Amino acid sequence: MTYRKLIRIYLIIALIIMALSIFWLSGFHDWIEQRYATTFFPVLGSALRFLFGWIPFSIGDLMYSTLGILFVYQLGLFLKGIFQKGTVWHQKLQPLNGAVLIVLFVYVYFYLFWGLNYYRRGIEFQLKLEPTTATRSELLSLNALLISRLNASKQVCLQNNDTLMTSERMFSSALEGYHTMEAKFSFIRYRYASLKPSLFGKIGNYVGFQGYYNPFTGEAQINTRIPNFVQPFVTCHEMAHQLGYASESEANFVGFLAAIHSKDKLLQYSSYLDMFLSSWNNLHAIDSVAAKELRKELHDGVKRDLRTYKEFVLQHRTFLQNWTNELYDYYLRKNRQRKGIGSYNEVTGWLIAYHKKFHVL
Ligand SMILES: [Zn+2]
Repeated sequence: MTYRKLIRIYLIIALIIMALSIFWLSGFHDWIEQRYATTFFPVLGSALRFLFGWIPFSIGDLMYSTLGILFVYQLGLFLKGIFQKGTVWHQKLQPLNGAVLIVLFVYVYFYLFWGLNYYRRGIEFQLKLEPTTATRSELLSLNALLISRLNASKQVCLQNNDTLMTSERMFSSALEGYHTMEAKFSFIRYRYASLKPSLFGKIGNYVGFQGYYNPFTGEAQINTRIPNFVQPFVTCHEMAHQLGYASESEANFVGFLAAIHSKDKLLQYSSYLDMFLSSWNNLHAIDSVAAKELRKELHDGVKRDLRTYKEFVLQHRTFLQNWTNELYDYYLRKNRQRKGIGSYNEVTGWLIAYHKKFHVL
């Protein structure tokens, strides 16, 4: 056995041991909250943003592409080897070693440097919120409140002819929101911005992603090919991921809180719109008549945006989206979010609890 092969085998064994340790650790939620999510991860996240934030394009996207190509190449070598005559089985399996190594490395790195945040106590614990199952009347008042906020911010934006958000403004307003929020909740501490338009924007529209956090580089990528009024909230959502709120509901809720702490009306509008859609869906599930009745109260400008958004989704609907949705749903379920993609709507309970406690929204 050559020296190189021996190192490879040792590496695989070490990574398997690390993967098993991560699995074991994930059961200790208090430990993860105190020692990982609020101690180790914030330092790591800031360091990564400091390192890669200043580079104008996404290093993480390049890294993903390279890893993807390497993986396919190794797999290709393996398949080629299978059909090659004259080679023995251990030679045929050799390229597979490389592929296994890549998969194991990605798995361990992902959980060690971000994914363990899925198992933390999170924002509900930090804000000492006590959400209960929302009643019909609670959902009605939440929806009414969000509609009034939504209509008011739309009105101001239209009056000021302020309808287009540039990436630069979106990133700086979101940052301002997080900084203002820090004055109220000191555990929110966002330093060194690392926000970038995704290099895969157009593909993203067909695959169905609006933004994503790259745990390898700490960068937040925003798909700037989606409707303009959706992008500001996606930015705030991805920034919450950067702060270690891994679950989708938490990223939505923290992102929303940051947005309403910003002075930028377009950013506020985008975030109220997202919260309204979640809350409205929850209301619709228990009282569709009341939900439809409430929807009529939306400002014409808001209705127009919702139509634009629907058209956008329909135009980009592909079989790939069903497939990626299913895959993502599985991924979320696996990561302690039993409701899968449905967990996006879990945020409604927190909105009600937050409003009860802090009397603002
Ligand atoms: Zn997310």
